[in-house]
Amino acid sequence: MNILSDHSVAAGNDLRTMFAFFQTYRGGGTDDEVVADLTFGNPHEQPLPDLVRALRTHIEPQAVDWFAYKLSEAEPRRVIAEGLRAELGLDFTPDDIAMTLGAYGAITLAFTILLNPGDECIIPVPGWFLYETSLSLVHAKTVKVALSDDNFDLDVAAIEAAITARTRIVVVNTPHNPTGVIYSRERLAELAAMLTRKSAEFGRPIFILSDEPYRRIRFDGAAFTSPAEVYPYTLIDYSFGKVLLAPGLRLGYLAFGPGMPAAVRAMLRAAAEKTQLASGCAFPDSILQYAVKDLETVSIDVPAYQRKRDRLYDALTQWGYQMTKPAGTFYLWGKAPGGDALAFTAAMAERGVYVMPGTLFERPGDFRISLTGSQDMIEASLPAFEALAGMTAR
Ligand code: PLP
Repeated sequence: MNILSDHSVAAGNDLRTMFAFFQTYRGGGTDDEVVADLTFGNPHEQPLPDLVRALRTHIEPQAVDWFAYKLSEAEPRRVIAEGLRAELGLDFTPDDIAMTLGAYGAITLAFTILLNPGDECIIPVPGWFLYETSLSLVHAKTVKVALSDDNFDLDVAAIEAAITARTRIVVVNTPHNPTGVIYSRERLAELAAMLTRKSAEFGRPIFILSDEPYRRIRFDGAAFTSPAEVYPYTLIDYSFGKVLLAPGLRLGYLAFGPGMPAAVRAMLRAAAEKTQLASGCAFPDSILQYAVKDLETVSIDVPAYQRKRDRLYDALTQWGYQMTKPAGTFYLWGKAPGGDALAFTAAMAERGVYVMPGTLFERPGDFRISLTGSQDMIEASLPAFEALAGMTAR
Protein backbone atom coordinates (compact mmCIF):
# COMPACT_ATOMS: atom_id res chain seq x y z
CA MET A 1 0.00 0.00 0.00
CA ASN A 2 1.28 3.44 -0.82
CA ILE A 3 -0.34 6.05 1.33
CA LEU A 4 0.65 8.87 -0.97
CA SER A 5 -1.03 7.40 -4.00
CA ASP A 6 -4.00 5.51 -2.60
CA HIS A 7 -4.81 6.79 0.82
CA SER A 8 -3.81 10.39 0.90
CA VAL A 9 -5.95 12.84 2.82
CA ALA A 10 -9.57 12.40 1.94
CA ALA A 11 -11.43 14.80 -0.31
CA GLY A 12 -13.07 17.69 1.49
CA ASN A 13 -10.57 17.15 4.23
CA ASP A 14 -7.41 18.08 2.47
CA LEU A 15 -4.72 19.70 4.56
CA ARG A 16 -2.48 20.25 1.60
CA THR A 17 -5.21 22.27 -0.11
CA MET A 18 -5.40 24.22 3.09
CA PHE A 19 -1.68 24.98 3.18
CA ALA A 20 -1.80 25.91 -0.51
CA PHE A 21 -4.70 28.24 0.24
CA PHE A 22 -2.70 30.19 2.82
CA GLN A 23 0.35 30.14 0.60
CA THR A 24 -1.69 31.81 -2.12
CA TYR A 25 -2.86 34.53 0.20
CA ARG A 26 0.58 35.08 1.62
CA GLY A 27 1.53 35.44 -2.03
CA GLY A 28 4.80 37.30 -2.51
CA GLY A 29 4.38 38.85 0.93
CA THR A 30 6.73 38.38 3.81
CA ASP A 31 5.94 37.19 7.32
CA ASP A 32 6.15 40.84 8.40
CA GLU A 33 2.91 41.43 6.54
CA VAL A 34 1.14 38.80 8.61
CA VAL A 35 -0.78 40.69 11.27
CA ALA A 36 -2.00 37.58 13.06
CA ASP A 37 -1.83 33.89 12.29
CA LEU A 38 -4.81 32.43 14.14
CA THR A 39 -5.07 29.22 12.12
CA PHE A 40 -3.46 26.22 13.80
CA GLY A 41 -2.97 25.60 17.51
CA ASN A 42 0.69 26.49 17.25
CA PRO A 43 2.80 28.57 19.66
CA HIS A 44 3.54 32.20 18.80
CA GLU A 45 5.43 33.05 21.97
CA GLN A 46 8.47 31.58 23.74
CA PRO A 47 7.94 28.08 25.21
CA LEU A 48 6.99 27.64 28.87
CA PRO A 49 10.15 27.97 31.06
CA ASP A 50 9.15 24.91 33.14
CA LEU A 51 8.93 22.85 29.97
CA VAL A 52 12.39 23.93 28.85
CA ARG A 53 13.76 23.27 32.35
CA ALA A 54 12.35 19.74 32.38
CA LEU A 55 13.86 18.97 28.98
CA ARG A 56 17.25 20.36 30.07
CA THR A 57 17.17 18.27 33.23
CA HIS A 58 16.35 15.03 31.49
CA ILE A 59 18.69 15.35 28.55
CA GLU A 60 21.57 14.91 31.04
CA PRO A 61 22.39 11.19 31.11
CA GLN A 62 21.85 9.62 34.51
CA ALA A 63 22.69 6.05 33.48
CA VAL A 64 24.55 4.28 30.72
CA ASP A 65 21.29 3.19 29.11
CA TRP A 66 19.79 6.70 29.16
CA PHE A 67 19.39 6.73 25.39
CA ALA A 68 18.82 3.00 24.93
CA TYR A 69 15.81 1.69 23.03
CA LYS A 70 12.62 2.47 24.94
CA LEU A 71 9.12 1.06 24.91
CA SER A 72 6.41 2.54 27.15
CA GLU A 73 8.55 3.18 30.23
CA ALA A 74 7.45 2.26 33.74
CA GLU A 75 7.90 5.65 35.40
CA PRO A 76 5.79 7.80 33.04
CA ARG A 77 3.07 5.12 32.98
CA ARG A 78 2.97 5.17 36.78
CA VAL A 79 2.79 8.98 36.88
CA ILE A 80 0.04 9.09 34.26
CA ALA A 81 -2.05 6.33 35.87
CA GLU A 82 -1.82 8.16 39.18
CA GLY A 83 -2.83 11.43 37.50
CA LEU A 84 -5.81 9.77 35.81
CA ARG A 85 -6.90 8.23 39.10
CA ALA A 86 -6.83 11.66 40.74
CA GLU A 87 -8.42 13.48 37.81
CA LEU A 88 -11.16 11.06 36.77
CA GLY A 89 -11.56 8.96 39.90
CA LEU A 90 -10.98 5.76 37.93
CA ASP A 91 -8.70 2.93 38.92
CA PHE A 92 -6.15 3.01 36.10
CA THR A 93 -3.01 0.91 36.53
CA PRO A 94 0.34 1.69 34.88
CA ASP A 95 -0.16 -1.29 32.58
CA ASP A 96 -3.27 0.42 31.17
CA ILE A 97 -1.12 3.20 29.69
CA ALA A 98 0.63 3.05 26.33
CA MET A 99 3.03 5.96 25.74
CA THR A 100 2.46 7.40 22.27
CA LEU A 101 3.55 10.04 19.80
CA GLY A 102 0.97 12.57 20.96
CA ALA A 103 -2.77 12.10 20.86
CA TYR A 104 -2.55 11.48 17.13
CA GLY A 105 -0.21 8.55 17.73
CA ALA A 106 -2.71 7.20 20.27
CA ILE A 107 -5.65 7.63 17.89
CA THR A 108 -3.86 5.79 15.09
CA LEU A 109 -2.83 3.09 17.55
CA ALA A 110 -6.41 2.63 18.75
CA PHE A 111 -7.68 2.41 15.18
CA THR A 112 -5.00 -0.11 14.29
CA ILE A 113 -5.63 -2.45 17.21
CA LEU A 114 -9.43 -2.27 17.16
CA LEU A 115 -10.35 -2.16 13.48
CA ASN A 116 -10.29 -4.74 10.73
CA PRO A 117 -10.63 -3.68 7.10
CA GLY A 118 -14.26 -2.79 6.45
CA ASP A 119 -15.06 -2.08 10.09
CA GLU A 120 -16.84 1.20 10.71
CA CYS A 121 -15.85 4.11 12.93
CA ILE A 122 -18.19 6.99 13.72
CA ILE A 123 -16.64 10.46 13.90
CA PRO A 124 -18.24 13.83 14.68
CA VAL A 125 -18.91 16.59 12.15
CA PRO A 126 -17.69 19.20 12.56
CA GLY A 127 -14.62 17.53 13.96
CA TRP A 128 -10.85 17.26 13.85
CA PHE A 129 -9.63 16.82 10.30
CA LEU A 130 -7.29 13.82 10.61
CA TYR A 131 -9.44 10.95 11.94
CA GLU A 132 -10.43 9.98 8.43
CA THR A 133 -6.83 9.98 7.23
CA SER A 134 -5.89 7.47 9.93
CA LEU A 135 -8.96 5.35 9.28
CA SER A 136 -7.99 5.12 5.62
CA LEU A 137 -4.61 3.69 6.70
CA VAL A 138 -6.31 0.66 8.25
CA HIS A 139 -8.91 0.39 5.47
CA ALA A 140 -11.76 1.11 7.84
CA LYS A 141 -14.88 2.98 6.85
CA THR A 142 -15.42 6.49 8.19
CA VAL A 143 -19.02 7.21 9.16
CA LYS A 144 -19.66 10.91 9.78
CA VAL A 145 -22.41 11.90 12.15
CA ALA A 146 -23.34 15.55 12.60
CA LEU A 147 -23.43 17.09 16.05
CA SER A 148 -26.65 18.86 17.02
CA ASP A 149 -27.13 21.86 14.77
CA ASP A 150 -28.05 24.35 17.46
CA ASN A 151 -25.43 23.73 20.18
CA PHE A 152 -22.99 21.08 18.83
CA ASP A 153 -24.01 18.60 21.51
CA LEU A 154 -23.77 14.86 20.83
CA ASP A 155 -26.83 13.72 18.89
CA VAL A 156 -27.30 10.27 20.40
CA ALA A 157 -30.27 9.41 18.16
CA ALA A 158 -28.23 10.27 15.06
CA ILE A 159 -25.30 8.15 16.29
CA GLU A 160 -27.67 5.24 16.94
CA ALA A 161 -29.13 5.58 13.44
CA ALA A 162 -25.60 5.33 11.98
CA ILE A 163 -24.65 2.17 13.89
CA THR A 164 -24.49 -1.11 11.98
CA ALA A 165 -23.21 -4.59 12.76
CA ARG A 166 -19.78 -3.37 11.55
CA THR A 167 -19.53 -0.39 13.88
CA ARG A 168 -16.56 -0.89 16.14
CA ILE A 169 -15.69 2.60 17.47
CA VAL A 170 -17.49 5.84 18.21
CA VAL A 171 -15.07 8.76 18.54
CA VAL A 172 -16.08 11.29 21.20
CA ASN A 173 -13.95 14.43 21.34
CA THR A 174 -14.43 16.43 24.52
CA PRO A 175 -13.65 19.32 24.94
CA HIS A 176 -14.45 19.52 21.28
CA ASN A 177 -12.29 20.91 18.49
CA PRO A 178 -13.45 23.18 16.82
CA THR A 179 -16.44 24.31 18.89
CA GLY A 180 -15.05 24.11 22.45
CA VAL A 181 -18.15 22.29 23.68
CA ILE A 182 -17.74 19.97 26.70
CA TYR A 183 -20.32 17.20 26.83
CA SER A 184 -22.35 16.78 30.01
CA ARG A 185 -22.25 13.64 32.12
CA GLU A 186 -25.95 13.23 31.39
CA ARG A 187 -25.47 13.22 27.59
CA LEU A 188 -22.51 10.85 27.85
CA ALA A 189 -24.56 8.50 30.06
CA GLU A 190 -27.28 8.55 27.40
CA LEU A 191 -24.69 7.62 24.77
CA ALA A 192 -23.34 4.87 27.04
CA ALA A 193 -26.79 3.36 27.57
CA MET A 194 -27.44 3.31 23.83
CA LEU A 195 -24.02 1.75 23.07
CA THR A 196 -24.54 -0.90 25.75
CA ARG A 197 -27.85 -1.81 24.13
CA LYS A 198 -26.42 -1.87 20.58
CA SER A 199 -23.35 -3.87 21.68
CA ALA A 200 -25.67 -6.52 23.18
CA GLU A 201 -27.77 -6.52 20.00
CA PHE A 202 -24.73 -7.21 17.79
CA GLY A 203 -22.97 -9.50 20.24
CA ARG A 204 -19.68 -7.56 20.43
CA PRO A 205 -18.62 -4.39 22.18
CA ILE A 206 -18.68 -1.04 20.44
CA PHE A 207 -15.78 0.98 21.85
CA ILE A 208 -15.65 4.69 22.59
CA LEU A 209 -12.40 6.38 21.70
CA SER A 210 -12.43 9.41 23.95
CA ASP A 211 -10.23 12.02 22.34
CA GLU A 212 -9.34 14.27 25.28
CA PRO A 213 -6.21 16.28 24.44
CA TYR A 214 -7.88 19.51 25.67
CA ARG A 215 -9.16 17.95 28.90
CA ARG A 216 -7.23 20.35 31.13
CA ILE A 217 -7.98 23.48 29.10
CA ARG A 218 -11.37 24.56 30.47
CA PHE A 219 -12.88 27.94 31.26
CA ASP A 220 -15.14 29.35 33.97
CA GLY A 221 -14.51 26.27 36.16
CA ALA A 222 -16.38 24.03 33.69
CA ALA A 223 -16.75 20.44 34.89
CA PHE A 224 -15.42 17.57 32.80
CA THR A 225 -16.66 14.01 32.50
CA SER A 226 -14.66 11.45 30.59
CA PRO A 227 -16.71 8.87 28.72
CA ALA A 228 -14.54 6.34 30.61
CA GLU A 229 -16.44 7.32 33.76
CA VAL A 230 -19.76 6.18 32.32
CA TYR A 231 -18.87 3.52 29.74
CA PRO A 232 -16.49 0.61 30.41
CA TYR A 233 -15.39 -0.02 26.81
CA THR A 234 -13.58 3.33 26.56
CA LEU A 235 -10.04 4.10 25.43
CA ILE A 236 -8.71 7.58 26.23
CA ASP A 237 -6.20 9.37 24.04
CA TYR A 238 -4.32 12.36 25.40
CA SER A 239 -1.59 14.74 24.32
CA PHE A 240 0.84 16.87 26.30
CA GLY A 241 1.12 19.01 23.16
CA LYS A 242 -1.93 21.12 23.96
CA VAL A 243 -1.53 21.91 27.63
CA LEU A 244 2.19 22.63 27.10
CA LEU A 245 1.51 24.35 23.76
CA ALA A 246 4.34 22.33 22.27
CA PRO A 247 2.74 20.10 19.66
CA GLY A 248 6.09 19.37 18.03
CA LEU A 249 7.15 17.46 21.15
CA ARG A 250 5.35 14.24 20.38
CA LEU A 251 4.21 13.02 23.77
CA GLY A 252 0.86 11.48 24.66
CA TYR A 253 -0.79 8.26 25.66
CA LEU A 254 -3.54 5.79 25.03
CA ALA A 255 -5.24 4.56 28.23
CA PHE A 256 -7.42 1.49 28.42
CA GLY A 257 -10.52 2.06 30.53
CA PRO A 258 -10.33 0.10 33.79
CA GLY A 259 -13.98 -0.84 33.45
CA MET A 260 -13.17 -3.30 30.66
CA PRO A 261 -12.81 -6.99 31.55
CA ALA A 262 -9.21 -7.88 32.47
CA ALA A 263 -8.91 -10.29 29.53
CA VAL A 264 -9.90 -7.56 27.03
CA ARG A 265 -7.40 -5.11 28.53
CA ALA A 266 -4.66 -7.73 28.39
CA MET A 267 -5.35 -8.28 24.69
CA LEU A 268 -5.35 -4.56 24.00
CA ARG A 269 -2.04 -4.04 25.84
CA ALA A 270 -0.33 -6.80 23.93
CA ALA A 271 -1.73 -5.60 20.61
CA ALA A 272 -0.70 -2.01 21.35
CA GLU A 273 2.91 -2.86 22.15
CA LYS A 274 3.24 -5.09 19.12
CA THR A 275 1.67 -2.46 16.86
CA GLN A 276 3.90 0.31 18.18
CA LEU A 277 6.98 -1.83 17.56
CA ALA A 278 5.77 -2.80 14.13
CA SER A 279 5.11 0.85 13.31
CA GLY A 280 8.83 1.57 13.59
CA CYS A 281 9.21 1.81 17.35
CA ALA A 282 6.48 4.47 17.65
CA PHE A 283 7.16 5.40 21.28
CA PRO A 284 8.01 8.91 22.52
CA ASP A 285 11.70 9.78 22.77
CA SER A 286 13.36 8.70 25.99
CA ILE A 287 13.91 12.31 27.16
CA LEU A 288 10.21 13.10 26.84
CA GLN A 289 9.28 9.96 28.75
CA TYR A 290 11.69 10.83 31.60
CA ALA A 291 10.27 14.36 31.69
CA VAL A 292 6.65 13.24 32.21
CA LYS A 293 6.93 13.38 35.99
CA ASP A 294 7.95 17.03 35.79
CA LEU A 295 5.55 17.93 32.99
CA GLU A 296 2.35 16.52 34.49
CA THR A 297 1.78 19.75 36.42
CA VAL A 298 3.03 22.24 33.80
CA SER A 299 0.43 24.16 31.83
CA ILE A 300 -0.22 27.19 29.69
CA ASP A 301 -1.89 30.01 31.59
CA VAL A 302 -5.52 28.91 31.15
CA PRO A 303 -7.02 32.07 32.74
CA ALA A 304 -5.03 34.12 30.18
CA TYR A 305 -6.62 32.01 27.41
CA GLN A 306 -10.00 32.66 28.94
CA ARG A 307 -9.28 36.41 28.75
CA LYS A 308 -8.32 36.06 25.07
CA ARG A 309 -11.51 34.10 24.46
CA ASP A 310 -13.57 36.80 26.15
CA ARG A 311 -11.84 39.65 24.32
CA LEU A 312 -12.50 38.11 20.91
CA TYR A 313 -15.92 36.68 21.71
CA ASP A 314 -17.20 39.97 23.15
CA ALA A 315 -15.82 42.09 20.31
CA LEU A 316 -17.02 39.82 17.53
CA THR A 317 -20.51 39.27 18.90
CA GLN A 318 -20.85 43.00 19.46
CA TRP A 319 -20.14 43.48 15.74
CA GLY A 320 -22.82 40.94 14.84
CA TYR A 321 -20.81 37.72 14.46
CA GLN A 322 -22.58 34.56 15.58
CA MET A 323 -20.02 32.76 17.71
CA THR A 324 -20.13 29.68 19.96
CA LYS A 325 -18.61 30.51 23.35
CA PRO A 326 -16.13 27.69 24.04
CA ALA A 327 -16.15 26.03 27.47
CA GLY A 328 -12.75 24.52 26.73
CA THR A 329 -9.97 24.07 24.11
CA PHE A 330 -8.16 27.06 22.67
CA TYR A 331 -10.44 27.68 19.71
CA LEU A 332 -13.32 29.97 18.94
CA TRP A 333 -15.88 28.87 16.34
CA GLY A 334 -18.50 30.86 14.54
CA LYS A 335 -20.42 31.64 11.39
CA ALA A 336 -18.55 33.37 8.59
CA PRO A 337 -20.21 36.67 7.65
CA GLY A 338 -21.68 36.21 4.17
CA GLY A 339 -21.96 32.44 4.71
CA ASP A 340 -18.93 31.46 2.60
CA ALA A 341 -15.97 30.49 4.80
CA LEU A 342 -13.46 30.48 1.97
CA ALA A 343 -14.48 33.96 0.78
CA PHE A 344 -14.38 35.27 4.34
CA THR A 345 -11.02 33.74 5.25
CA ALA A 346 -9.57 34.99 1.96
CA ALA A 347 -10.79 38.52 2.72
CA MET A 348 -9.30 38.25 6.21
CA ALA A 349 -6.02 36.97 4.77
CA GLU A 350 -5.89 40.00 2.45
CA ARG A 351 -5.83 42.06 5.66
CA GLY A 352 -3.02 39.88 7.07
CA VAL A 353 -5.22 37.93 9.50
CA TYR A 354 -5.31 34.17 9.03
CA VAL A 355 -8.21 32.16 10.37
CA MET A 356 -9.24 28.62 9.51
CA PRO A 357 -12.09 28.08 7.05
CA GLY A 358 -14.78 25.66 8.23
CA THR A 359 -14.34 23.71 4.98
CA LEU A 360 -11.59 21.81 6.75
CA PHE A 361 -14.20 20.68 9.28
CA GLU A 362 -16.84 20.07 6.61
CA ARG A 363 -18.76 23.19 7.62
CA PRO A 364 -18.24 25.56 4.67
CA GLY A 365 -20.20 28.39 6.27
CA ASP A 366 -18.19 28.54 9.49
CA PHE A 367 -14.67 29.49 10.59
CA ARG A 368 -12.29 28.84 13.48
CA ILE A 369 -9.94 31.15 15.34
CA SER A 370 -7.01 29.75 17.32
CA LEU A 371 -6.50 31.55 20.63
CA THR A 372 -2.85 30.47 20.65
CA GLY A 373 -2.00 33.76 18.94
CA SER A 374 -0.40 36.24 21.32
CA GLN A 375 -2.43 38.91 23.07
CA ASP A 376 -0.86 41.49 20.73
CA MET A 377 -1.81 39.46 17.65
CA ILE A 378 -5.36 39.18 18.88
CA GLU A 379 -5.60 42.94 19.46
CA ALA A 380 -4.07 43.60 16.04
CA SER A 381 -6.57 41.27 14.37
CA LEU A 382 -9.63 43.13 15.63
CA PRO A 383 -9.83 45.85 12.92
CA ALA A 384 -9.98 43.16 10.20
CA PHE A 385 -12.81 41.35 12.00
CA GLU A 386 -14.65 44.63 12.45
CA ALA A 387 -14.17 45.61 8.79
CA LEU A 388 -15.62 42.31 7.56
CA ALA A 389 -18.47 41.99 10.06
CA GLY A 390 -20.98 43.15 7.47
CA MET A 391 -19.58 41.03 4.62
CA THR A 392 -22.35 39.71 2.39
CA ALA A 393 -22.40 36.78 -0.01
CA ARG A 394 -20.22 37.44 -3.08
N1 PLP B 1 -7.49 15.30 18.59
C1 PLP B 1 -7.91 16.56 18.43
C2 PLP B 1 -9.35 16.87 18.63
C3 PLP B 1 -7.01 17.57 18.08
O1 PLP B 1 -7.45 18.82 17.92
C4 PLP B 1 -5.66 17.23 17.89
C5 PLP B 1 -4.69 18.25 17.47
O2 PLP B 1 -5.02 19.29 16.98
C6 PLP B 1 -5.26 15.91 18.08
C7 PLP B 1 -6.20 14.97 18.43
C8 PLP B 1 -3.83 15.49 17.92
O3 PLP B 1 -3.04 16.04 18.92
P1 PLP B 1 -1.44 15.91 18.85
O4 PLP B 1 -1.00 16.61 17.60
O5 PLP B 1 -0.95 16.62 20.06
O6 PLP B 1 -1.11 14.50 18.81
